[in-house]
Amino acid sequence: MTLLILLTLLGAGPTLAGRRAPAPAAPSLEEGAAQLMNDALLADEAWGELRYLCDHIGHRLAGSVGLEQAVAWGARELEADGLGVTLEPVQVPVWIRGEERVELLAPLERRLDVLTLGGSVGTPPGGIEGEVVVVGSFDELEERGAEAAGKIVLFDDPWVDYGQAVSYRGRGAAAAAKQGAIAALVRSPTPISLGTPHTGGMRYEEGVPEIPAVAVTLEDAAWMRRLAANGEAVRVRLQLGARREGEAASHNVVGQIEGREHPEQVVILACHLDSWDVGQGAHDDGAGCVAAMEAGRLLAAMPVAPRRSVRVVLYANEEFGLSGGKAYAAAHQDELGQIVAAVEADTGAGQPLGFRVDMRAADSGERDEALAAQVVAALQASMALLQPIDATELEISWSGADISPLVKLGVPGLGLKHDTSGYWPIHHTRADTFDKIDPALLARNVAAMTVMGWILAEQPEPLPRSQVPPEQ
Ligand SMILES: [Zn+2]
Repeated sequence: MTLLILLTLLGAGPTLAGRRAPAPAAPSLEEGAAQLMNDALLADEAWGELRYLCDHIGHRLAGSVGLEQAVAWGARELEADGLGVTLEPVQVPVWIRGEERVELLAPLERRLDVLTLGGSVGTPPGGIEGEVVVVGSFDELEERGAEAAGKIVLFDDPWVDYGQAVSYRGRGAAAAAKQGAIAALVRSPTPISLGTPHTGGMRYEEGVPEIPAVAVTLEDAAWMRRLAANGEAVRVRLQLGARREGEAASHNVVGQIEGREHPEQVVILACHLDSWDVGQGAHDDGAGCVAAMEAGRLLAAMPVAPRRSVRVVLYANEEFGLSGGKAYAAAHQDELGQIVAAVEADTGAGQPLGFRVDMRAADSGERDEALAAQVVAALQASMALLQPIDATELEISWSGADISPLVKLGVPGLGLKHDTSGYWPIHHTRADTFDKIDPALLARNVAAMTVMGWILAEQPEPLPRSQVPPEQ
């Protein structure tokens, strides 16, 4: 007995005296995912944060006071949740909508509910008026080009998908101006409408006159088409106060959790803080931001940090030329090879269905289908961890706008895929407000971002990826 005590003192004694409480062991990929899934579905922080963002800050157009309040809010929240926060400078354009009034003058007088497209020029104070030429496509505009000179072109393209519809919003004014038109009206890019015009970004072309561009409702577009098809002259007057006012300084908000084994390797969870200047930007993209932020909070609260670092990035400007995403990619050129994936949530807060995988060749920026298929294969087994919320789909497609500058340089891109049936009808309208958010679905969005963030940061091997081009 004495000997045993003596041996213990001599041998094990110093070890015992020097022993610290053991660090908790990292959970398995499955255990961690199950715990995070549970935490995400039970917590209501994201709901409260989104309510604050929508009701107390409101819409957040690039260059507005609202955006700067949102930047400060995002930084404050991430810091309070235990992430290391930095603000990265971004220049954003400033565009003011001003007063807008568009009236049908003939065959009867009626005011139209419109939204000037973002970036559009205004009209002279007295307004402009002209006859409306209704076309269903760019091809039809080409064919009937001679009719458009001196007139107002209405693009009334039937909805197929957002990508097609948005091409008229983006390029319609320039195409009409090339035919000599004095203004462009664009049918709102949405499958259904309750008299809601949808704003959004548009672009002018070098050397082409800058003419005003406004979105009209599906109902008014259909009405003008019926009138024109009936051979009646349709006349419209536009008075638009829109104007550009240079640029303003803003910031991408970045919050980081250091990885326990490979802190230099980074998984990005992204969204954009800015919104259009109507509604509250609840679905676009407030919901995506609180999902990414809450994923950061839940991952930071784990007893053991994930293997790799997780970085929440709230981009400052997506809607107005993507300067947030472009500035981020430019500032992080030297760590491109260490960004193991970028995940973005930016199609509302409907039921999450899974993820869209986007892989590009680092030298050309073109889609690399074979590599994308390898990424899908590498993730396939882990998708079972998203079974509790039925978000197990993987498809090769576009991932997200803010992360696209990274993805074009070879970073694996993942876009949270949603049921968007409730999203497109309110996207970029006055109706994108907090009351449209379903708390149970928002929690599922949080769960999808959290568990995918965990999978990417914790799985033993990083995703297959393209070679990063050497520095220029
Ligand atoms: Zn968006």
